[in-house]
Amino acid sequence: MGVDPNCIFCKIVAGQIPSFRLFEDVASLAFMDINPANEGHCLVIAKPHHPTLYDMPPDLLAAVSATVLKVAKAVEAALKPDGLNLVQSNGKGAAQSVPHFHVHVLPRRLGDNLKINWEPKPGDRAAIAAVAERIKAKL
Ligand code: AMP
Repeated sequence: MGVDPNCIFCKIVAGQIPSFRLFEDVASLAFMDINPANEGHCLVIAKPHHPTLYDMPPDLLAAVSATVLKVAKAVEAALKPDGLNLVQSNGKGAAQSVPHFHVHVLPRRLGDNLKINWEPKPGDRAAIAAVAERIKAKL
């Protein structure tokens, strides 16, 4: 299993630093975020070290996703939030602070004013179509 000895999440996986563990299986680990944006904010990580989504083997992503679903349902059942966001950040521009693949499971409350929502505005259809072509060319 890939390990980066300088990675804080690899240290959590190895039990070298403390965490509030929720669940683990062979591929994934869920634990509480130490700087919760809301009550119940937790993280699901891949156990092997992969910095971003782009580095993730698809089968590992599927295994982590199964844990995300399990944990999200438990958060929903335990806390009855008004909603729940999954947030997964890659790279500095996305404000990723720990370069070890993880998914935030983030319970939401009406009026909590967390700054991850944006105001939907209609886009320019020609510009949308053009960027869709650029992406499709790489699929
Ligand atoms: P991101 O900014 O998307 O990379 O998210 C990294 C998250 O890891 C942040 O929400 C941090 O609060 C959280 N975090 C960092 N160190 C720890 C730790 N030792 N235990 C639990 N959560 C942590």
